[in-house]
Amino acid sequence: MFHNLDYHGRFAPSPTGSLHFGSLVAAVASYADALHHQGSWLVRMEDVDEGRTVKGSADEILRTLEAFGFEWDQPVLLQSQRKPRYREILDQLQQQRLAYTCSCSRSEVAVHARMGVEGPVYPGTCRKTATDKILGKAIRIRTNREEICFEDRIQNRHCQVLERDVGDFIIHRADGYTAYQLAVVVDDADQGITQIVRGADLLLSTPRQIYLQKHLGFSRPAYAHVPLVTDIQGRKLSKQDLAHPVSAGKPLSSLKSAWAFLQQPPAPEEPGSVQEFWQWAASIWDIGRITTGHL
Ligand code: GLU
Repeated sequence: MFHNLDYHGRFAPSPTGSLHFGSLVAAVASYADALHHQGSWLVRMEDVDEGRTVKGSADEILRTLEAFGFEWDQPVLLQSQRKPRYREILDQLQQQRLAYTCSCSRSEVAVHARMGVEGPVYPGTCRKTATDKILGKAIRIRTNREEICFEDRIQNRHCQVLERDVGDFIIHRADGYTAYQLAVVVDDADQGITQIVRGADLLLSTPRQIYLQKHLGFSRPAYAHVPLVTDIQGRKLSKQDLAHPVSAGKPLSSLKSAWAFLQQPPAPEEPGSVQEFWQWAASIWDIGRITTGHL
């Protein structure tokens, strides 16, 4: 089969519970898009925050993905095994004088901060007082007033000025773990990811990730943020939402629901197996059908 060497997609679940319908939707969208473009598709376990990792859930998620007929092209990458690499990148950013240590508490930040696009904007308190000792301290990256824009394949154009909208953000946490924003950028670059298809809850994080890519000399992938599945109150489903785990026992019915949620047309004939479903789905998938009405 022809293989598109320019398309590398991925699904990056956090092992904090069973796979729920919201993550299945993200997985189906990224896998269908990769299959449709004859690209490769990887799975990465985002277990960087070991405090939130639920024992056994990484395996359970992988078994569920297998039952749903997902096939990934390389061994699963575990963030928990990438600490030396993250350390190297942090050192690089500190040497570039872009990153600095910070011991402000959340409440101290909240007192002086304005609200930005996703909570208080860090007012830069530690920019001048930072030390080289990192133990017990967070590390933040210095932001600026440059406008960062990207064209999302589903959500259209988005722009942020990081210093105004987010502030200097944390790339290494005071509890010693690498922050999601940094880990995701380093992993996507090291895995050669060119297409990111994921939930719209990460739309507002994307400019931070593009900023890090720029300063680290990584190329920018294309982005597509799929509408979020919400509960009746309009809240995003989370793994803590035990009411919505997907059942590996009935994969076809959950796949069909995820497919319908993604506004793709129903199969003309009932697929006999998950393999048959994916074969058909790969040919018919069109990300352009997804509207942002759900958002
Ligand atoms: N690990 C994140 C999650 O489970 C996804 C991160 C990403 O796709 O960039 O929500």
